[in-house]
Amino acid sequence: MAPFNQGIGVGWANAAPAFPADKPIWDASGLDSLAQITAEVVECRACPRLVAWREQVAQDRRASFRNQEYWGRPIPGFGDPEARMVVVGLAPAAHGGNRTGRIFTGDRSGDWLFRALWRAGFANQPTSTHVGDGLLLAGAYVAAAVRCAPPANKPTPEERRRCLPYLERELKALDTASLIVALGRFAHDAVADLFALRPRPLFGHGRETELCGGRRLIASFHPSQQNTFTKRLTEDAFDAIFTRARLLLKSDEGVEGP
Ligand code: SF4
Repeated sequence: MAPFNQGIGVGWANAAPAFPADKPIWDASGLDSLAQITAEVVECRACPRLVAWREQVAQDRRASFRNQEYWGRPIPGFGDPEARMVVVGLAPAAHGGNRTGRIFTGDRSGDWLFRALWRAGFANQPTSTHVGDGLLLAGAYVAAAVRCAPPANKPTPEERRRCLPYLERELKALDTASLIVALGRFAHDAVADLFALRPRPLFGHGRETELCGGRRLIASFHPSQQNTFTKRLTEDAFDAIFTRARLLLKSDEGVEGP
């Protein structure tokens, strides 16, 4: 099983190779791979403010996790290397991904996301608590627009611009993926920018946009506590996104939908 499917701590251990500083951000030879991108992401220190924050949080820790060692580094995407759907979030949570080393893992948003992916048949279990918990994705890959936990969940425009090439490269490496599900306006706008959509398409739960290369973007409210506590996002509405994704992927295969 490829290491990407369980997160960086499986197979990668914590010793991803450092890449030479002069390595181009996009490998023009076309040989860019998820392994290469992962190795670069986990070593990245390009944003001084985010590096300081992620490491400070990892040092201070939340009281309930005081006995755990935090990852405290950037988080690459993970999932099925032959994914047909890529789910894009905003950034790792300070005490979620920044602690566990896997995106949407060990926090409430992840609870929502993986329950929904499991119900839709993209995950083998409804929980994502830590690397090595047995979670496997089938047909799906999960990533974020920004790879380091930002203060107040708010990366600056410059940090976003600096980090987006990692998502761009993952999307290029995942050349079987025809569907992108953006969780929240930030991720939606990031994908729109990667595909140079002007004007940016309107954001709204369930809105769909055609992308170049036969790809399609689906917008979803982010499963943040702010959205789920206020019922702006319900489990039914979240499920509807992945039910629709299933239907679109089946119609791509020329198979009748359910
Ligand atoms: S946010 Fe992205 S570009 Fe900035 S340090 Fe983290 S991984 Fe690097």
